[in-house]
Amino acid sequence: MQFRDLKAQYAAMKDSIDAGISAVINDCNFISGRQVAELEARLAEYTGVRHCIACANGTDALLLALMAWGIGPGDAVFVPDFTFFSSGEVVSTVGAVPVFVDVDADTFNISCESLEKMIKKTIKEGKAVPKVIVAVDLFGQPADYAGLKEIAGRYQLKILEDAAQGFGGRIGERMAGSFGDIAATSFFPAKPLGCYGDGGAVFTDDCHLAELISSLRIHGKGTSKYDNVRIGMNSRLDTLQAAVLLAKFDAFKDTELEVVNQAAAYYTEKLKDTTAVPVVPDEFFSSWAQYTVKLEDRTMRDGLQRFLKERGIPSMIYYVKPMHRQEAFFGEQYYDEDYPVTNVLCETVLSLPMHPYLTRDEQDEVIACIKEYFSH
Ligand SMILES: *Cc1c(COP(=O)(O)O)cnc(C)c1O
Repeated sequence: MQFRDLKAQYAAMKDSIDAGISAVINDCNFISGRQVAELEARLAEYTGVRHCIACANGTDALLLALMAWGIGPGDAVFVPDFTFFSSGEVVSTVGAVPVFVDVDADTFNISCESLEKMIKKTIKEGKAVPKVIVAVDLFGQPADYAGLKEIAGRYQLKILEDAAQGFGGRIGERMAGSFGDIAATSFFPAKPLGCYGDGGAVFTDDCHLAELISSLRIHGKGTSKYDNVRIGMNSRLDTLQAAVLLAKFDAFKDTELEVVNQAAAYYTEKLKDTTAVPVVPDEFFSSWAQYTVKLEDRTMRDGLQRFLKERGIPSMIYYVKPMHRQEAFFGEQYYDEDYPVTNVLCETVLSLPMHPYLTRDEQDEVIACIKEYFSH
């Protein structure tokens, strides 16, 4: 059994993916080919955002957003403590201070209560000025944007939506990628919409920011590539990756999202009496980057992972370490007691095999195995 079965997906879409790749190779238009602009237009339309700027990976997408806002030394950026390293790494890359925030025990997304506490604390300390909230759509589920926008308004902060795992998710009719003042996503192969290498994109409704980000991603270009008006970076999405994404996009939006939601509902129905299953609030729709259950304690969690492994079932721990305990951030001061929820989640969560090509038989095998573990 695969944790995320990219081979099954390729088998299902081989003809269109191969044709897309061949077309790029035939044209030898590897950088900035027409497929990149076509993809940007389609993703912008799907997300309901005016501008989509493709780039080299999700980390750069986040970084480009912070650069466009001019975030740097002396600025504080609030980041959930329970997320992938990139969400906080980019803050340090631009020289600003990452202030980690505890998460909600049910949704695992940034906690508005903890956020407000950390904002007040930062203002009181006076060492860095609050500027941005990084809201992560963790495991595919959008963050609580109603609550976050209220806080952002009160303290005049920008919201950077980290939709690296959330692409395809929504709240009501509104798509992930449209909630932040700027949003970033990733097309890393294992993400909900993945390419065959690294890839990412930035979304915004603001045409001034869109222009700035387009320039920053190509060496700070002005009127041409050889007219450089600011310090930027080299962060383009290559044409081959755009072609792969175009070939996959229809299936992603028309069938895969629906299928993963059915698979998630099935896990939940069968496991809800055995273990803590994911909580999806009303109106929220997840793209199920991960299906994550919560065990009683570390011994139970590690035991279940071992038990599954012995029976050929892969599982993953996202995430083993809170951000505030990552050695890379040891230059900053964090207090363990500010993160009670994240500290427990890192010891108790386990992500199960989840992807659009997971069969009912495979799910039944996972479910039976978990029930057997709990019967001992
Ligand atoms: C994967 C991921 C990123 C980074 O994306 P890359 O394309 O790997 O650079 C950022 N944030 C979160 C939450 C992610 O899961």
